[in-house]
Amino acid sequence: MKNITYQSTRGGESGVSASMAILKGIASDGGLFMPSEIPQLDKPLRELAGMTYQEQAYEVMKLFLTDFTEEELRDCIAKAYDSKFDTPEIAPLVHVGMAYVLELFHGNTIAFKDMALSILPRLITVAAKKNHVDKEIVILTATSGDTGKAALAGFADVPGTRIIVFYPKDGVSHIQELQMVTQKGDNTAVIAIHGNFDDAQTGVKKIFADKEYEKKLDASGFQLSSANSINVGRLIPQVVYYVHAYAELLNCGGIEDGEEINVVVPTGNFGNILAGYFAKLMGVPIGKLFCASNDNKVLYDFFTTGTYDKNRDFMLTMSPSMDILVSSNLERLIYLSTGSDAEKTAKLMKELSETGHYTVTKEMQKHMEDFIGGYATEEQDAEVIRYLYRKRGYVMDTHTGVAAAVWKAHWDATGDQTKTVIVSTASPYKFSKAVLEAIQGPILLTDEFAVAEELENISHVPVPKAVLELKTAEIRHKKECDAADMEAAVSGVLGI
Ligand SMILES: *Cc1c(COP(=O)(O)O)cnc(C)c1O
Repeated sequence: MKNITYQSTRGGESGVSASMAILKGIASDGGLFMPSEIPQLDKPLRELAGMTYQEQAYEVMKLFLTDFTEEELRDCIAKAYDSKFDTPEIAPLVHVGMAYVLELFHGNTIAFKDMALSILPRLITVAAKKNHVDKEIVILTATSGDTGKAALAGFADVPGTRIIVFYPKDGVSHIQELQMVTQKGDNTAVIAIHGNFDDAQTGVKKIFADKEYEKKLDASGFQLSSANSINVGRLIPQVVYYVHAYAELLNCGGIEDGEEINVVVPTGNFGNILAGYFAKLMGVPIGKLFCASNDNKVLYDFFTTGTYDKNRDFMLTMSPSMDILVSSNLERLIYLSTGSDAEKTAKLMKELSETGHYTVTKEMQKHMEDFIGGYATEEQDAEVIRYLYRKRGYVMDTHTGVAAAVWKAHWDATGDQTKTVIVSTASPYKFSKAVLEAIQGPILLTDEFAVAEELENISHVPVPKAVLELKTAEIRHKKECDAADMEAAVSGVLGI
């Protein structure tokens, strides 16, 4: 197998092994790690279709993580995709009227981030051993809701690691907050910040870039790493379910071998959809990738005009995990669209951080033609959730609703008959109130659990254990801080 190394999108590092790239999370120049090339699948999709999810995961990940042994990888995969998932299929593909819904919410925190975060801690632990790291690894994460819980659950009590999660105090759902502040594990910390997700993410990036602080941590026996979706150890496991979705379409006879499909992805940080693009570049016949945004439609504007502009009001929506104005993983697509020109990429990213906007060339735009930007307003989101419930008896969450609304608008306008996969990123029970209101109109119930029960009554899908448990779970994390004081908060947690 061809050896794949990783280089920074901004040119500061190259020839980095996969395990080292996973350990570091982000390159030392602030750029993101990219594989030296995108490998091609070395087995036909027909053959992959005969495999389990775990076997498919191995076939994809072995091509990217070339300094992991077969035994190491298979072991990580087996421990990640096990009975934590409430179905042996791991990621079921459900036919719902005009499209196929890829349900990525069957892991233990009922959102798609489990797909990558159940395996990342395993990959990090192996990577640390490989690279003779003797320091305790501190995972630092900013979350718009789902990453935080999934990372906490993944890392809780994993030896040699600590995890500290920052979330925007008023920017996550009640259930999301409960999920985080009740997290068990002696190595976990959760801190609410006074600010929005971008403040939290910017704060975390600053800590990573602070060389003095790095020295201080090092002297105290700690090394930072990131579980955010910029880590290649998150990106690569996400490529798997696009291969899996195609394989399932073959298995159910929904498509002919080689037939092109579309994917529609509810997007925030651009990690999920980028993984879909990687799958396409590896040889999965994906035609268009619909990038679905909510009212924070910075990506829609980008794909339609070529200008990325984060200077706008930040909107709080009922799809909070997509309330993002700086989509970090877009940097990887920018890099690809320059023909892997790190200098050009670094210049654009500098412009973004200094002015809040940049414009790509026509040539770069041409490279991104496989992406189609779309967005749904709050009303359109609610409308499609109601529509699919009434017409098909299927209940989806508010993030998936954004994707479904974008696809339906496209379908209504064009009659596009291409088989299409809508990527479902959360269980409706993670956002029960918004989902129930979309279906029934304003409701008076204020107790989240009563709302979940009501949703169960109308959907006939049982309330997941992950929600039921919260009812009686003890609140273990109560810390809050200002966005400006995040570094001090980290020191406090680590006792340095
Ligand atoms: C994180 C998240 C998204 C956005 O995914 P990205 O990879 O950041 O684009 C969408 N929906 C849900 C439910 C999420 O948790």
